[in-house]
Amino acid sequence: METDSQSHVYSTMRLFAPRERYPQETRVALTPPAVEQLTRLGLGVTVEVGLGASLGIDDASYLRSGATIGQSADEADIVVRLRPPPLDEIRTQRPGSVAVGFFEPFFQPELVRAMTEAGLSALCMELIPRTTLAQKMDALSSQASLAGYAAVIVAAERIDKVLPMMTTPAGTITPARVFVIGAGVAGLQAIATARRLGARVEAFDTRPAAQEQIASLGAKPLVIDLGATGEAKGGYAQALTPEQLMQQRQAMAKSCAAADIVITTAQVFGKRAPLLVTAAMVAGMRPGSVIVDLAAGSGGNVEGIVPDEECLVSGVKLIGLSNLPGKVARDASQLYANNVVSLLTHLWDPAAKGLRFDLNDEITSGTLLVHGGQIRHDGVRSLVEGS
Ligand code: NAD
Repeated sequence: METDSQSHVYSTMRLFAPRERYPQETRVALTPPAVEQLTRLGLGVTVEVGLGASLGIDDASYLRSGATIGQSADEADIVVRLRPPPLDEIRTQRPGSVAVGFFEPFFQPELVRAMTEAGLSALCMELIPRTTLAQKMDALSSQASLAGYAAVIVAAERIDKVLPMMTTPAGTITPARVFVIGAGVAGLQAIATARRLGARVEAFDTRPAAQEQIASLGAKPLVIDLGATGEAKGGYAQALTPEQLMQQRQAMAKSCAAADIVITTAQVFGKRAPLLVTAAMVAGMRPGSVIVDLAAGSGGNVEGIVPDEECLVSGVKLIGLSNLPGKVARDASQLYANNVVSLLTHLWDPAAKGLRFDLNDEITSGTLLVHGGQIRHDGVRSLVEGS
């Protein structure tokens, strides 16, 4: 690989996609159509033996798309993954090579340090700017959208009633009540899915702009006057003060008690998810009702939630699946692979037949977490230095 330190041009030819190491991960980082697009771009693509096995995609399908089948990332210039890799795998990547994937940089300082020490350039999917131009690359959105859908499907399967109103000779069934907390990408998709299934939906978000979006999907926005809640850079929510959180919980207790299904999706970027549904609020719900907590993997919005388990608390089913997009792994993999192809296409320099890291470009600069032996994101750098 040739590197021109002035303009950061990487004559990058070989890309490797290893199998995901995370237990129970059903998604894959590259699908055969994505391989086709990357080879058309000029990359030599190798995928690990059995990459698509969890989706029923055999090695022959990857071969037909133009990939070769290999075993290790040692020779690769770019390694594309979905989940953060184990540290020992990062250490086998060649210095100067590029790592692409979700790296959970705020929660895995050791990994960020290891990528810096290994001399890698890390393109971190979580850091892709939430802008119109970057929409095609926005893997947080593509996966959150499917998680929101899957959360409702899981809840519908676990609840003891139907979601739509049904009028039958034996009597009329009232529609299920669904309360969605957090109306970002996942929450809005959960609202839309629950509405399509005929439920009566109420939702709350701290960002005032979300109220109109909730209403446009046919749901009722819950209005709570919390004073200034603001919006952080990139449209993300600000963390609330302890007093605001207490006020929010009190105001939401009635909506939780009236709901058959509560779906929680609240996140504050780079921080532990806020605790929004207390044990007392759970106890106030009807036995048999269901809570699905999409934030279970980052601390949980619900007291007592256990990641990847279903617990019965006060007769309420608490479901903390941390890999909801994995429930619809085929579609999730297709969208993630498309996100990766769009990102690499954006960075591709046809003349140099390689990646160009133009640090004046907002997408490149924002996404490049580690480069030239430096951690480029201020928040992550302080976290790693302080760990
Ligand atoms: P996220 O996953 O960071 O958080 C989920 C939701 O939780 C957010 O809507 C947030 O406001 C909400 N939240 C945080 N604290 C809460 C609390 N105490 N109570 C209730 N809700 C709470 O958010 P996201 O889905 O990644 O979206 C983040 C922002 O980025 C949104 O403004 C979204 O519209 C925007 N966005 C823009 C684009 C684009 O322009 N291309 C793409 C995707 C998202």
